[in-house]
Amino acid sequence: MQAPSAAELLVVWERARAQPMTTQALMLLAAASPGASWEDLAKLSVGRRDERLLVLREALFGARLLGLTSCPRCRQQLEIGIQSTDIHIDGDQSDRELLSVTSGAYVARFRLPNSEDLSAIAGRDDRQPDEAATIRKLLSRCLVELRRNGRRQRLDSSHGLPPALIEAIAAEMEKADPQANVQIPLDCADCGNRWLSAFDIVSFLWSEIDNWAKRLLREVCALASAFGWSESDILAMSAQRRQLYLQMIGDAA
Ligand SMILES: [Zn+2]
Repeated sequence: MQAPSAAELLVVWERARAQPMTTQALMLLAAASPGASWEDLAKLSVGRRDERLLVLREALFGARLLGLTSCPRCRQQLEIGIQSTDIHIDGDQSDRELLSVTSGAYVARFRLPNSEDLSAIAGRDDRQPDEAATIRKLLSRCLVELRRNGRRQRLDSSHGLPPALIEAIAAEMEKADPQANVQIPLDCADCGNRWLSAFDIVSFLWSEIDNWAKRLLREVCALASAFGWSESDILAMSAQRRQLYLQMIGDAA
């Protein structure tokens, strides 16, 4: 993992802006993983991918994560402040290619979902995904072998799988890849409500990079206007040096 320079990250931001979120995640990882092929990165399990994104996030912006959310009961806005280590889950580090569960008469063998799967099953309208349909689509890609009473079943029949088997597979996937499902315990000082909130490193990091890039471009604009320097010269400076020059022209953040 190698944090990209400001100029490199700005190029990734520009190219990835119009892409779906799964592609944005891979483009960020590719920029931070010289030598790793796109295919290898796309085949990382979602938890492994998120673990690397968390390391990249720490290299870019530090160990403290700040965000805003609202209480699901009273709608009060809350500030969340957590450390990377709070959401880094030390899971099963063995690289098991295939997992298996037994549920009733069924034995299922399957692999963990990866970015290719997420891209393939992404619907046109991701704002309101149908959870059951999403799980069925994921299963149809990740299921490798299915036996019922010892007899091999057709894999395209994942529609008819018993809910207990689907639950057992989902539980095993979560156990084997815990970083794919990070939950932060939160409590509301106003109403006393306590709940678990899902933390998605991809959208969190992307919105930080989006803010960073827009701020950086404003800095480039201010410094180029004041001193006539080129964009590449300004981007090659350290963030501290840019801030010092901005202070000199009374334009520091
Ligand atoms: Zn509340």
